[in-house]
Amino acid sequence: NGGLAHGLPNGATVRKKLMGYVGFANLPNQVHRKSVRKGFQFTAMVVGESGLGKSTLINTLFNTTLYPEKEPLPPQAERPSTVSIESISADIEENGVRLRLTVVDTPGFGDFVNNDNSWKPIVENIEARFDAYLEQENRVNRQKLVDNRVHACLYFIQPTGHALKQIDIEFMRRLHTKVNLIPVIAKADTLTDDEIVAFKERVLSDIAHHNIRIFQAPIYDNEDEETIAENEEIASKIPFAVVGSNREVRTSDGRSVRGRAYPWGVIEVDNEDHCDFVKLRQMLVRTYMEELREHTNDVLYENYRSEKLLGMGVTQDTSVFKEINPAAKSAEERALHEAKLAKMEAEMKMVFQQKVQEKEAKLKQSEEELYARHREMKDALEKQRLELEDKKRRLESGRPLTPEKSVSTKKKGFLRA
Ligand code: GDP
Repeated sequence: NGGLAHGLPNGATVRKKLMGYVGFANLPNQVHRKSVRKGFQFTAMVVGESGLGKSTLINTLFNTTLYPEKEPLPPQAERPSTVSIESISADIEENGVRLRLTVVDTPGFGDFVNNDNSWKPIVENIEARFDAYLEQENRVNRQKLVDNRVHACLYFIQPTGHALKQIDIEFMRRLHTKVNLIPVIAKADTLTDDEIVAFKERVLSDIAHHNIRIFQAPIYDNEDEETIAENEEIASKIPFAVVGSNREVRTSDGRSVRGRAYPWGVIEVDNEDHCDFVKLRQMLVRTYMEELREHTNDVLYENYRSEKLLGMGVTQDTSVFKEINPAAKSAEERALHEAKLAKMEAEMKMVFQQKVQEKEAKLKQSEEELYARHREMKDALEKQRLELEDKKRRLESGRPLTPEKSVSTKKKGFLRA
C-alpha cells in the first residue's frame, strides 16, 4: 500500500502478489514465436577416418541427402595429403520451424601414414569461427550476429572393439575445451551386443583416464519424472553405438524400414533395440540442441574470448589463487567485461570523430564556396566601378564615350578593312 510513498530506503523492493490478469504468462509464447520467426542456426562437425559412415549418418540424422553417395577412390588415385575442411548448409523445416543446418566435414582426418597433426587444421577452423563471431560482437552495429560457431562435434570411433587409438585421444585432448564432443562408435552393426557393452566401457575409461571432458547431457531435477528418465537414458548410452543407412529395406515380417540387410536379418536404424541412433538424434536434435548452443556460447566461446583478451594484454592476476577465490574470479570477469566495454567505447569514439571530421570538411567546403562567391561579386563590382569612372572622365573631358559603345564593332572592323 504505497510503499514508495512511505519512504522506503533506496533499493528496497515492494513485493506484492498480483491477483488480476496482466498477461505475462504469455511471455514464453512470445519468445517461442520470435525464435520461430527468426529460425535456428546449428552447426555440427563430423570427424573420423574416411569410410566410417560419417556422411551416411548425417543423411540419416536429418533425413536429407545432404551428402551425395560417395564413389570410392580407385586405388591408384592420388589422395590428398592434408586434412581439409568442407561445410554444407541446408535449410530444413519441420512443422513450420526453420533450421539452418550446417555440417562441417573434415575429409582426410586420420587417413595418412603420419596423422600426428591431423587435429591442427580442425582446431584452427573452430578458432577461426570463434574469431569471426568475436569480430561481429565488437562491431558498433551488432544487430544481426551470424553464428557459425561449431555447436557439436561428432567424433567417429572405429569399431575395433579394443581401445581408443592414439589419434582418437590426441584429437579429443586437443578439442575438448573448444567444442562439445560427442563420441560415437561407428558402424556398430559390425560388433555383437556384448562387444559393444565392453567397448563402450573401455572407451569411457580411456576418456576419463586422459581427463577428457565430453559433452554431458545435463539432467534437471525440476522436470517431470518421465523427462528425467528419458534424459538419464540418453546419458547412459554415451558413446552412442550407431548404424547409419538411407536405404529402405524389408524386414522378415514385411515392414519397410531404414536399415541394413544382412543374410541373417535386418538391422533397423530407428529401432532402439538394434542401436543407439535414436538416442543420438534425441540428444542432438530433440532434447539438447539448445543446450549445445548455450554451452558453446557461455562456456567454450567465453573461455576462448577471455584467453584471447588476456593475450591482447588485458592485465590480470594469473595466480592459482584466483581459480578458487570467487571474489578474484568475479573481479576478473568484471575486468574482462570492462575491457570489452572500453573497446566498444573506443570504437564509438572513433566513429564519432569520423563523423565530426566529415562534417567539418563539409563546412570548410561551403565556407570556401562562399568566399569564392564573395570574391567574384567584389571583382564584378570593382569592374563596374572602374567602367563608371572611365565614363565619368570621358564625359567631363567632352570626349565621346568608348567607341565600343557608339559604333558597332562589326561595322568599325568592316570600314577599316
Ligand atoms: P565417410 O567417408 O565417413 O563419410 O563414410 P560414408 O558415409 O561414405 O560410408 C562409407 C561406407 O560405409 C559406405 O559404403 C556406407 O554404405 C557404409 N556405411 C555407412 N554407415 C554404415 C554403418 O553404420 N554400418 C555399416 N556396416 N556400413 C556403413
